Amino acid sequence: MTPPCTFQPATKPENPLRLHLAQGVCDAHAIHSAPSAPGNSAAILVEETPDTLRILAAGDLDAVRAHPRAPAAAIVEWPDAILMPATVNAHTHLDLTHIGPQPYNRNTGFLGWVDLIRDARTFDPAMLRASVRDGVARLRNAGVALVADIAGARQTIPTQVLREESFPSVSCLEVFGTGDRQRDTMRFLDEAIAHEATQPQHPVRFGLSPHATYSCGHAVYLHAARCAAERDIPITTHLAETPEEYQFIAHATGPLRTLLERLGVWDDATAATIGHGLHPVEHLAPILERARFLVAHVNDAPDHAIETLARTNTGVAYCPRASAYFHHHEQFGPHRYRDMIQAGILVALGTDSIVNLPPDESASRLSTLDEARFLHRRDRTDPALLLRMITTNGALALGVDPELFTLAPGPTAGIIAVNIDAPARRAPDARTRVLESSAGIRWAECPHLPEQDRAERD
Ligand SMILES: [Zn+2]
Repeated sequence: MTPPCTFQPATKPENPLRLHLAQGVCDAHAIHSAPSAPGNSAAILVEETPDTLRILAAGDLDAVRAHPRAPAAAIVEWPDAILMPATVNAHTHLDLTHIGPQPYNRNTGFLGWVDLIRDARTFDPAMLRASVRDGVARLRNAGVALVADIAGARQTIPTQVLREESFPSVSCLEVFGTGDRQRDTMRFLDEAIAHEATQPQHPVRFGLSPHATYSCGHAVYLHAARCAAERDIPITTHLAETPEEYQFIAHATGPLRTLLERLGVWDDATAATIGHGLHPVEHLAPILERARFLVAHVNDAPDHAIETLARTNTGVAYCPRASAYFHHHEQFGPHRYRDMIQAGILVALGTDSIVNLPPDESASRLSTLDEARFLHRRDRTDPALLLRMITTNGALALGVDPELFTLAPGPTAGIIAVNIDAPARRAPDARTRVLESSAGIRWAECPHLPEQDRAERD
């Protein structure tokens, strides 16, 4: 069963100047302050105007209190929490939220999982709307202030819902199309792009998502990449995710070929383009050269694939708990996100859908902070690097100003208070405490909340 969503907007004083006091504050870059003794020892001073929310100062309590405008501010105390910027979720599927967390059946494997999704997903417009809305609530519950959502095959309802919710996002129209079906997919893309050219692109930006190497042919990828480059449209795809994908692309065999045959979409045109021994990243390399892609997963990353991704300026949305759920490390070895970063690749974290989250309280949030916590536990990854992957790297990957996801003076995408539970209080610094805590978040400042939520909050 899906745990309930418990998002509660924070209460906010009337005063447009607010001084938030907390145990500590941290972001991925310069700001890093934590107490040596219990109590409030760090602070953030913010100013709200009708158009923006700005950070005036953040850091050690005494330094922030010395700001000339601090004495006029209303005090908000967060004695059990550390304050940090809101986060980014670089890859999710909000339309699948209604399915809830599901166990992975190793006997039926990835294809069994694809069948599960095909059987369980809704195409009923009202249910789909409700599912996306539920997903948005779980993003808010997680402290996420920017998301890249895959809208589902030829679905436009998720984009509409994100717009109704005023949730800052890149909403990626997903398309499938192989072999002889590609012409029809390209026509559909042209119509959708023409329609979106008449729509406001803030706070929800339209993006493209050809689904994956085994479900989209070269012509569809080429057309989508051209449109993305010419019209400055974000573009994403799933890449090098499973051993089945490698088998299909390199050898034109295996369960994915069986699936395409079963669906009646395997044809000579498809057969001609695969089976040449290429790794999926090399198969897609001529396309990656044409537009700046954000590719999801890349669990299968030999050295040459990392070199190709770096050379083509391709970003990676890594979904750590999803990779672990499918046991990808058993086939491919540990995910090479740190090698990718070392090679100059922009790596951001995503949650993938709720389906592959654990069926516990953490499924009440689509949280990249929880993904970072998972990596901290498993790999002892550098805390500053983890914060970067869930804030500034995510923003850069989605074409948004990364400064909005720091505590530097200037406009902010939001500030979250991460509750610090007892075991995490022993950690030496603010970033590590945030990562060692398993508690949820509260919004200290949330500029992206729509007006009706603000009304409920007051
Ligand atoms: Zn995905």
